[in-house]
Amino acid sequence: MMSGWSNWSGSVTAQPGVTGRPRNLDELAGLVRQAQKVRVVGAGHSFMPLVHTDDTLISLADLEGRIDIAADRKTVWAPAGWSLDRLTGALWEAGLSMINQGDINPQSLAGATATGTHGTGAELGSIATQACGFRLMQADGSLIECGPGLHADLYEAQRLSLGLFGAATEIRIEVLPAYHLEERISRMRLGEVAERLDELAAATRHMEFFVFPYSDHVIFKTLHPAEPEGEFVDSADIDETVFRLVCELGAAATPMIPTLQRMLMRMSGQQTRRIGPAWKIFPSERTIRFEEMEYELPRANGMQTLKAAIDHIRSRRMPIAFPFEFRLTAGDDIWMSPFNKGAGASISFHQYAGMPWRSAFGEIEAILQAGEGRPHWAKRHTLATADVYRLYPRTPDFLAAREAADPQQKFANAHLTELFGLDSSRAGKAA
Ligand SMILES: Cc1cc2nc3c(=O)[nH]c(=O)nc-3n(C[C@H](O)[C@H](O)[C@H](O)COP(=O)(O)OP(=O)(O)OC[C@H]3O[C@@H](n4cnc5c(N)ncnc54)[C@H](O)[C@@H]3O)c2cc1C
Repeated sequence: MMSGWSNWSGSVTAQPGVTGRPRNLDELAGLVRQAQKVRVVGAGHSFMPLVHTDDTLISLADLEGRIDIAADRKTVWAPAGWSLDRLTGALWEAGLSMINQGDINPQSLAGATATGTHGTGAELGSIATQACGFRLMQADGSLIECGPGLHADLYEAQRLSLGLFGAATEIRIEVLPAYHLEERISRMRLGEVAERLDELAAATRHMEFFVFPYSDHVIFKTLHPAEPEGEFVDSADIDETVFRLVCELGAAATPMIPTLQRMLMRMSGQQTRRIGPAWKIFPSERTIRFEEMEYELPRANGMQTLKAAIDHIRSRRMPIAFPFEFRLTAGDDIWMSPFNKGAGASISFHQYAGMPWRSAFGEIEAILQAGEGRPHWAKRHTLATADVYRLYPRTPDFLAAREAADPQQKFANAHLTELFGLDSSRAGKAA
């Protein structure tokens, strides 16, 4: 079947011994039972080696299933391997929408949940907070369901699981009646956004901005529920044609980067506005490959930490081709969620995939950590086991639930074994 595997950015590659795309639960159970080690892959959009394996790699994209809407229409059981695009399209057909979404929609529902994928919105939690039930295939091929009050520890751990507890076949998510969103994009001065952040955040349901490290202007974007109006216009928040050129020129001649970014921002002056179905407005297509690190900070530390990171890049004249993305997220109570300390500011730091990123990520990571940030689990970070325990007091509970669910560590790979300090000598052996 599939030979080599690579993640979206190309920075993680693997040679799985066995790959499978089961069409039903029996086929999935057969693959899981036979394997010594299993990783389930969604869309492979994680930057960390969460999916990496040289054993068995399974995609649930073809697993038969459908959405099952609760009588009160507030929750839906959905196939976990469906992409968010497929899921939100099916929800829309049924008159429903997801509560919030991130920047793109190829990710699987399970992959997005497993890593705490989020959008922006000061009052809105990550996609993991929308999940309120899971059906999981365990190491022996049996199915287990968990939810509030049902296998409670497994449920609490599985809410942000990194895929450690089994193959999620279906996930129950909270939904809303279908809604439209008005998108507005404009150019603003970074200083003004910093000064008025609270007011701007409160004015709309979703607020975010992109800022190139060498420009004093930001691309400021808001989304807010609205009545449908006119024809839906399919467009992107960032014009990737000019942006791609800026990245390529910048990569070829790094001293040009500051000038190119200021020029691009001068060209991005016009205000745009459109209204469309929420599932069409939330995602943009990202065709320019990049590598990414993201830290979630206490909201009060967000803006000053962003400025410190920008100052650092400017003072060291670091060749960074991509903008930062700044978003807001509500706090939650999920054991391993980087938002579980309260309202969060999310700072994403990217580098064009054609340029070196490791040393720059190291320098900026130190600044984001100084702002009390904790990393997005799917994006580049260098946490060690001691850091995980220090940053997440519920780590022992999470790992006890993992031990109970999968004592043979069938669903752990090398990265997760190292990250959580699992006993690698027991991996793959009978309990
Ligand atoms: C271009 C781009 C844009 C992005 N935008 C955002 C954004 O706006 N907000 C944000 O927070 N993140 C964002 N991300 C990160 C992305 O949402 C996460 O990496 C997410 O986990 C990817 O989902 P996936 O389906 O590709 O999962 P994968 O990367 O394939 O897997 C992620 C984890 O989920 C596990 N998993 C997948 N399916 C299952 C299953 N059925 N059962 C059990 N475990 C499973 C995997 O084993 C792995 O541990 C972006 C990434 C890219 C490349």
